[in-house]
Amino acid sequence: MAAEPRRKVVGAACEDAHVGDEEDDRDHARSTAGIAFKRASRDMMRLFDSTVRMGQRVFHVVMRIVGPCLVLLALSLIGFVTYTYFWYGFAEMAKEVGQPGAVAISMVGVFLLTNALYNYAKAVMTSAGIPPEFEAELEACKAPPRKCAKCGKLKPPRAHHCSVCGVCVMKMDHHCPWINNCVGFGNYRYFCLFLLFIASACTFIVVVFGVCFEDVIFTWGRRGTRAFRQSVLISFMICASILCAVCMLGGFHLYLVLTNQTTIEFQINMIRRRQCRRNGEFFRNPYDVGRSRNCQEVFGPNSLWGFRWMFPWMALAPTGDGIKYASIDKMLFLAVVSHEEPPLAVFELLDRIYQVLLRYLGEVSEDSLRQNFSTVYLLLDEMIDSGLPFTTEMNRLESIIAPPSAIGKVVQAVSGSSTQVLSDVPLEAAGQAGPFGALSSALGGLTHSHIGGASAEVWWRRQNVAYGSNEVYVDIVETVSCICNGTGNMISGGVSGEVLINSKLSGVPEVLLSLRNPAVLQNASFHPCVRLPRFQRDKALSFIPPDGEFSLATYWIPDTTMNLPFHFAVSVNYHSDHGKVQISASPKMAITMQNKQMLIDKFVVNIRLPASIASANLACQGGSIRFDDESKVLIWNLGKLASQECKAEGTLNYGTDPKDGTPQIPSEEKPTAQLAFVIKGWAISGVRLDACDVSSINYTPYKASRYTTTAGKIEYRIA
Ligand SMILES: [Zn+2]
Ligand SMILES: [Zn+2]
Repeated sequence: MAAEPRRKVVGAACEDAHVGDEEDDRDHARSTAGIAFKRASRDMMRLFDSTVRMGQRVFHVVMRIVGPCLVLLALSLIGFVTYTYFWYGFAEMAKEVGQPGAVAISMVGVFLLTNALYNYAKAVMTSAGIPPEFEAELEACKAPPRKCAKCGKLKPPRAHHCSVCGVCVMKMDHHCPWINNCVGFGNYRYFCLFLLFIASACTFIVVVFGVCFEDVIFTWGRRGTRAFRQSVLISFMICASILCAVCMLGGFHLYLVLTNQTTIEFQINMIRRRQCRRNGEFFRNPYDVGRSRNCQEVFGPNSLWGFRWMFPWMALAPTGDGIKYASIDKMLFLAVVSHEEPPLAVFELLDRIYQVLLRYLGEVSEDSLRQNFSTVYLLLDEMIDSGLPFTTEMNRLESIIAPPSAIGKVVQAVSGSSTQVLSDVPLEAAGQAGPFGALSSALGGLTHSHIGGASAEVWWRRQNVAYGSNEVYVDIVETVSCICNGTGNMISGGVSGEVLINSKLSGVPEVLLSLRNPAVLQNASFHPCVRLPRFQRDKALSFIPPDGEFSLATYWIPDTTMNLPFHFAVSVNYHSDHGKVQISASPKMAITMQNKQMLIDKFVVNIRLPASIASANLACQGGSIRFDDESKVLIWNLGKLASQECKAEGTLNYGTDPKDGTPQIPSEEKPTAQLAFVIKGWAISGVRLDACDVSSINYTPYKASRYTTTAGKIEYRIA
């Protein structure tokens, strides 16, 4: 596929030439002016780019020189304030609060100063953390490590390149000129603690000087010598301004520590969040594993109220190696069983819990679970009672526990979360048994059978269902999975199907579904509403439907005599200098003639070719075809498979042996083809709805049915 970019360039040149050949003079002038303008702006951009780059380089050099100066400046400021305190302040203070009082106050100051200086020294001298050189150490990372574009070394997650230091830094926060060092994985805790202690020390000076020398600072009163007054005033101002700056910076870093972001990630995440919001998605920082664990990642596994984390020489050091970070990726549903249980039953229950949460919360994410905690708690309590699956039927649950509403959330926000439990109980239930009766029934499960209005016999259906327009939709969805051999015959396979019903019927309707070939339902599992004796007797599905969407039956047909509604053939041959691939697909007329409304859509062929194929020249009639040389997969996207035959063919070019340059001919490797498609208006098992009768109602509902067959895992072995 190396030819691809070149062709693009040629195409662009042709376009330019074509524009130049335009006969109309005005158009011609305009287009030349346009090209000239484009060129000028391109040159301008280049100039601007090189200027910026130059500026950056100068800036980095300046930073390298300025860094040590700023460290000296910081130390001399601290030194000046300390000198003022002890040379002028202490004696004055002793006059006001007495010698012992002044000593006690000074001890606090010295303590804060020592800590600040200790953390400052540590922040300056500790390396921010340079990623290891060897690939083996980075192998444990989930994602393959990226390569740094600037220094060419491997970059673990959260590492960034510091242009001032000229190296990659693990969990890089920023390059701080005040410590002449990068702030990263290795010294972030010292940096944060330095901010904390320097802010405390400045507060200390501001308070002590402000209280003791109020008249000097605020009224410029005649007290002490001129040098005394100037020194105290300057120290006070230095500390007040440092305090303001550090409070802002420290507040930001407190937020970053709590949310487990670095300054760089904060910027990246802000952009991502905006993008996600635009796409209607929800963004979450994957490294945010809860406030206390986020703090422990920076300050080590120390308890918050033990305050040992403030003193790094005695606190436990942060665990972690700067390469791997705990992150939240997928949500897992876990069930703990005390003794041997049928595993499928447990999976079914977990799936049901997921479906219920999805319907209640709209999305199942960590945040949605946290925000609707009381609803989730009530649901789990209702679905699993004393460790046993209990009420798992959606409609039943909805009648017991109301979905979280916007109003409920406002009430919760205004009056605290305790009312949420009450607001989760539907109004009719609350009205029937009083708030506490409803509460106890919601929490304790089935105390009586009329909660929410569903009757005991038809517990899956809400009572008093009323619709303006009454409709019932039957959806038969089948998924075919099979392996076919070289001649196109099915070797193994089967069809899994599902009868989905969306019922919007008022009252308590009786529905009778009769199928033309009920034999397909031999291995079926039914919704509890289906009357099984009736089905066994006359093979008709009779039931009172739950309200809304539900799955009436799921079935599995192990059958290798099924007839796929299309012909598909593929051949791959390897000649001495190149390979040849031919694919063809066409609908089977016998089937399409019988089913006029049938439509084969989204037909995609994937062929995984041997690794020694370097590139391919492909052409097709219908759809689009391409060869992905990364994954060595040939992808033919046909779209709709209409009446005529679709063909694709092409040559495969072999890669050459790196040693002697001979082409590598794949010998015995037989590729396989995978198919994907959606067939509308047709069910492969031949299941057909004969009639759908709705009785014991006084209206005529609208009824509709739909058939769909989708491809599960379909594999063609190529001969
Ligand atoms: Zn780098
Ligand atoms: Zn740096």
